[in-house]
Amino acid sequence: MPASADRFDSCPLCLGEGEDVLWRDARCRIIDARQPDYPGYLRVIWEAHVTEMTELAAADCAHLWRVMLGTERVLRRLMSPDKINLASLGNVVPHLHWHVIPRYRDDAHFPDAIWAPPRPVAAGGTAAARGAHRRPAGRAGRQRGHGIRLNLR
Ligand SMILES: [Zn+2]
Repeated sequence: MPASADRFDSCPLCLGEGEDVLWRDARCRIIDARQPDYPGYLRVIWEAHVTEMTELAAADCAHLWRVMLGTERVLRRLMSPDKINLASLGNVVPHLHWHVIPRYRDDAHFPDAIWAPPRPVAAGGTAAARGAHRRPAGRAGRQRGHGIRLNLR
């Protein structure tokens, strides 16, 4: 990314290094943010370094929301989650971004946020088995991005 007035070298989301970008346009990008317990976890990142939604012009805010809803629709279709969590925190990295996280009743933290302490495993269950039936399986599941294709246009 070229340096510009709306980018900061000290901000990891301005730099965007090492990201697996699944989709992008001139205003935002969607990256694969998956974790072992959350294989469909995506992050929608605004390209310019702003902190809050209310810093965006109305048209930009509408665009970001449209991308968010498109991301949610794709994840619902591909992952069949029990719930989608949309979270905008930015307490650690104050650069506008949204976490889009498919959730399952048997995932490690449900019904808490994924950043909460893990819930104990139910009697007879194992952490490895928890949610395994919901994860993409086979060759497609091992590929980068789990074969998630985002066509938001
Ligand atoms: Zn930034």
